[in-house]
Amino acid sequence: MPNPIYDTSKPVLVTGATGFLAGWIVKDLLEQGFTVHAAVRDPNNKDKVAHLEKLADASSGNIKFFKADLLQDGSYEEAMQGCGIVFHTASPFISNFKDPQKELVDPAVNGTRTVLNSANKIESVTRVVLTSSCVAIYGHASETTKAPTGKLTEAEWNNSSSLTENPYSYSKTMAEKAAWKIADAQSRWKLVVINPALISGPSLSGSPTSDVFSIFKQMADGAMKSGVPHIEVGVVDVRDVSTAHINAAFIDNANGRNIVFNRSMSFLDICNAIGEKRSDLPLPSREMPKWLIWLVGPMVNSAFSRNWVSLNVGHAWRGDNSKAVRELGLTYMPVEKSVQDMVQNMTDLGLIKG
Ligand code: NAP
Repeated sequence: MPNPIYDTSKPVLVTGATGFLAGWIVKDLLEQGFTVHAAVRDPNNKDKVAHLEKLADASSGNIKFFKADLLQDGSYEEAMQGCGIVFHTASPFISNFKDPQKELVDPAVNGTRTVLNSANKIESVTRVVLTSSCVAIYGHASETTKAPTGKLTEAEWNNSSSLTENPYSYSKTMAEKAAWKIADAQSRWKLVVINPALISGPSLSGSPTSDVFSIFKQMADGAMKSGVPHIEVGVVDVRDVSTAHINAAFIDNANGRNIVFNRSMSFLDICNAIGEKRSDLPLPSREMPKWLIWLVGPMVNSAFSRNWVSLNVGHAWRGDNSKAVRELGLTYMPVEKSVQDMVQNMTDLGLIKG
């Protein structure tokens, strides 16, 4: 089992520190005694940063906030000064957008270029850990079983997404490609990429904005009571994804892309796991027929085009998570516990009525 060696002599930078995943990365780093440079859009927004200040107070580490925006060139340079490791997590994960180029692709891709170009300038940086996604590997669930080994591996890329079809997936694919281009053109710092599937689990912030909370809200608050589509996704707990990032930074031989998930679940599997603990919630208990989703999907949500439904509903999702287990030493929390913890946390925060 590879062992991480923590060098706390230099600060570390976490971009998008207010985020759902980043909160856990910051917590784990603070608990190891690091000085964390937390790059956020608005350091004065107490709703967004108070939980991070509390985590620092309860740990042996320190936190310093820096104002930075993915859309401003050079914005992360001040926050990166003196840092050994850069964790680049910031990227919009939203489904409610009008202009996918401006709201998703520009911040994801130009922001990644901005952060990595700064790593080129700042000599203290030895490693960048980039939060990519499994959606940079596949566009539609039907592609997963068509991969050469019958499941997604780190060798595949998402070639099917575009500005009009799965634009979030497209933004993550283009951002990861931009990162490899910059990393491969130099040799001073190493790029290690984490490709998580759907991340579940509790938020450390009182007001999480990640789109994954909207997905879980729809499952748990009755919006899907009459039935869920048969859609399968890889699922992984946020605490395991944080460990993946920390180990990617501090295990010497960590390298390349790393698919991170525990196992594949259908939306109904997720609802059933939630229901084991929460019989009070109006959870769906059955799946909707594919023909019905194909017929009405485009009228309910423009993202559910007939092509999208054909290629995603009713298809198995298969991925190979063995590289991260072997090389990053990951063990995974049961996904049932992860989704149960998430829904309990959302209830505690008032996001779901219990
Ligand atoms: P999140 O809570 O919404 O975090 C996204 C972060 O990006 C927030 O801190 C947000 O800042 C920041 N951000 C967005 N636009 C920005 C901009 N223009 N300038 C600076 N910062 C900006 O979502 P998350 O789920 O934790 O996602 C974190 C990362 O994991 C993302 O890269 C996402 O693509 C990736 N990922 C997520 C999942 C999942 O299931 N959640 C799965 C795979 C990969 P504000 O707080 O100021 O808005």
